[in-house]
Amino acid sequence: MAQLIDGKAIAAEVRALAAQRAAALKEKGVEPALAVILVGEDPASKVYVRNKARACRECGIRSEVIRLPETTTQAELMAEIERVNNDDAIHGLLIQLPLPRHLNEEEALAAVDWKKDVDGFHRMNAGALLNGTPGVLPCTPAGCMELLSRAGVRLDGAEAAVVGRSNIVGKPMALLLLRANCTVTMCHSHTKNLAEVLRRADVIVSAIGKPRFITADMVKEGAAVIDVGINRLPDGTLCGDVDFDAVSEKAGWITPVPGGVGPMTIAMLMMNAVAAAENHAR
Ligand code: NDP
Repeated sequence: MAQLIDGKAIAAEVRALAAQRAAALKEKGVEPALAVILVGEDPASKVYVRNKARACRECGIRSEVIRLPETTTQAELMAEIERVNNDDAIHGLLIQLPLPRHLNEEEALAAVDWKKDVDGFHRMNAGALLNGTPGVLPCTPAGCMELLSRAGVRLDGAEAAVVGRSNIVGKPMALLLLRANCTVTMCHSHTKNLAEVLRRADVIVSAIGKPRFITADMVKEGAAVIDVGINRLPDGTLCGDVDFDAVSEKAGWITPVPGGVGPMTIAMLMMNAVAAAENHAR
């Protein structure tokens, strides 16, 4: 039976650490502050933004949610980003994705001052990750690494398979595992014999967005399985990409959904926000 990696508990520990660092900054007269730009009325985005603001409050980080209407033009969005970039009292800025279809996400992300880029999506930070130089790490993959490390999963020399190749999860995840000396295979919708590739893996990270897609027959005995996927089932409940019950019987470690990677994403965001304020204070 797999060891359950409790993302909720680990995230609480990480947030406590962020709160300590935020308190130390306040003693030096710097109040860490994070701005979130939310454009439009996407219900899921509203929930995420609310959760991020709550986490900020708990950690002693001031948060400012900038709500812009669905009809916001690219020029208006760019002007708002510029305003926050130039505001010395705000140390971190994130743009809640997805943006409404008529807006250019890439242009918006590139306009964020990379020193305030707490999501790690700016090209400067993405490039730093590729080059192996210091930079801001994207929250979800960084959270997965924290879970693996705290669970004591040995990564050096391990075979790792990442399923999904998005810029926000799959690609940076593969680079972080490579940095930890794994032999990494990146899988996607064109991968042939996915099950065969996964059966070789000591570590599987799934970020696809397909409910219970990874079944027990695809998993090696004793593997560590990190489930990034968040899927809503017709009955309204959430599940991951992994067939949790069956895979738990076979894996060495497994993360649940909900309560696995999700809480870690926000905890790592808090760490990035505090780090941005610390860098500013320096
Ligand atoms: P994207 O939709 O951007 O990427 C999905 C990836 O899955 C693509 O690379 C796609 O391949 C691949 N894929 C789709 N079908 C298959 C298949 N049958 N076999 C192999 N690969 C496949 O998603 P994201 O990376 O943004 O998110 C992935 C999941 O993670 C979602 O469920 C999302 O909700 C969740 N998520 C969770 C977070 C958290 O905090 N826990 C944070 C971010 C995301 P291809 O490139 O070939 O199309």
